[in-house]
Amino acid sequence: MDEETTVMRAVLLGPPGAGKGTQADLIQKRLGVPHISTGDLLRTAVGNRTELGVRAKGFMDEGKLVPDDLVIGLIRERLHDDAAEGFLLDGFPRNVSQGEALGELLEESGVELDHVVSIAVPVDELVGRMLGRGRSDDNEDTIRARLEVYRRETAPLCEYYRERGVLREVDGVGSPQEISRRILSHFDA
Ligand code: ADP
Repeated sequence: MDEETTVMRAVLLGPPGAGKGTQADLIQKRLGVPHISTGDLLRTAVGNRTELGVRAKGFMDEGKLVPDDLVIGLIRERLHDDAAEGFLLDGFPRNVSQGEALGELLEESGVELDHVVSIAVPVDELVGRMLGRGRSDDNEDTIRARLEVYRRETAPLCEYYRERGVLREVDGVGSPQEISRRILSHFDA
């Protein structure tokens, strides 16, 4: 109702189960910025059995990252389309090379990231949340693999943004509304 359109380019980081998708949806409703989730895009591609979906499925089922060129291609398309005027990225970038690729894509368009927010949640709580969610890749083995991928590949990306002075961290334990307020307070700053 109060929806307004904000031009903002932001990335939500955080381990699997941290609530990035929930928060991106809430923020999209609030600010009208398109929420782009590579996980959702990939699941749609798998469901539609597109060539990309067929290539991605095995990696997703094992909790591994889908190869960079596939996800970077998806993001490139969106950045030239509805996300040209701003976006809230959820699940991308997920490693340093994806972060560098995003930086190059934005540079080509003469724009840059406004915010990178990392949502922090203790591991025990993450596992409980994912087991409760019941997505097909939310079984114990896959969850363990995804947490390990996060530690090995995504945590260094947090460092990459921290070193560049753009990373803001929020506590991801609390009600979705509370967490949303914490994230939005960084966007206002
Ligand atoms: P979660 O954050 O709970 O792990 P996502 O929906 O973001 O869930 O991702 C689900 C799966 O999709 C990942 O385990 C991975 O296989 C794949 N995926 C999503 N985004 C990326 C990405 N940026 N790079 C590589 N693989 C990705």
